[in-house]
Amino acid sequence: MDEKNTLIDCDALVKIYKSKDVEVMALQGLDLKINKGEILAIIGKSGSGKSTLMNMIGGLERPTAGKLYLNGEDLYARTDREMVDYRKNKVGFVWQMSSRNLLPYLTSVENIEVPMYGSGRKKKQMRERALMLLDMVGLSHKANSYPMQMSGGEQQRVAIAVALANEPELLLADEPTGAVDSKTSADIQALFRRLNETLGLTIIIVTHDMKLAHNVDRVLMISDGKISTEKVMKDEYRKTMQALSDGELSSNTTHEEYSILDKAGRVQLNEDILERAGIDSKRVKIKLEGNQVIITKE
Ligand code: ADP
Ligand code: MG
Repeated sequence: MDEKNTLIDCDALVKIYKSKDVEVMALQGLDLKINKGEILAIIGKSGSGKSTLMNMIGGLERPTAGKLYLNGEDLYARTDREMVDYRKNKVGFVWQMSSRNLLPYLTSVENIEVPMYGSGRKKKQMRERALMLLDMVGLSHKANSYPMQMSGGEQQRVAIAVALANEPELLLADEPTGAVDSKTSADIQALFRRLNETLGLTIIIVTHDMKLAHNVDRVLMISDGKISTEKVMKDEYRKTMQALSDGELSSNTTHEEYSILDKAGRVQLNEDILERAGIDSKRVKIKLEGNQVIITKE
């Protein structure tokens, strides 16, 4: 990977949550590099650490150990002031619940203006920019509607416009389509792809929806606080995104799946593979045949 193009570099990130008598290790030494202009999806079971990672990238959750570099600089070495600037101007968030994204007593256009207060823009410029963003997400006709007067999908589109208000270089969406139907979900995914292509925006989407794999460069699977596998879109499919979003091809065709080998030489074998190989013990044998590594039952 070209280092100059790296936007985010997660180096052995660990997050431990401590409450009275339990300790939860939400991230367990997670390594991950993300290029500028990439669009990627993160999938994984509930509790696997997806939101923890997103919040950490968004500057909301300090790692217990490990480093997170942004454009080569240690994000959590910044001063509080620099962190506030980062969260306000460099990164946009879209949450699953639209109630967390939008203020109920403001119209669409007013909601989009909220993050722009204090940005030095004049009132007129703020309004113009808000209307431009609404147009970009296809909702010009809802400028004066309140969240309650819009569908879930429309609210999420407005939320995307809010997240883009201050021209962030990074857009983070944590299960943005978790609460909408599949048609709406597909529309929102197409919107993410379009924003990625037209604005060159780096986008990370946490999702349950495997269909999203058609639309993104990489799909990362997170399990137990680490990236376990990665699906990378094959070059020949990069130019045919539209056909892919129509759902004619499965991601097994369009993407190549890799397992992640960490710095310590560990690789995770998923339950399915272990079961099919009949491996049920804690100990396995590893041998080398030519340039192939064979793992067998004890
Ligand atoms: P996901 O988004 O993949 O469902 P999370 O990142 O939210 O997973 O959570 C990972 C683990 O960390 C879970 O076991 C969760 O219960 C725990 N966890 C997350 N946030 C907190 C918190 N603020 N306090 C204590 N435990 C937490
Ligand atoms: Mg979550």
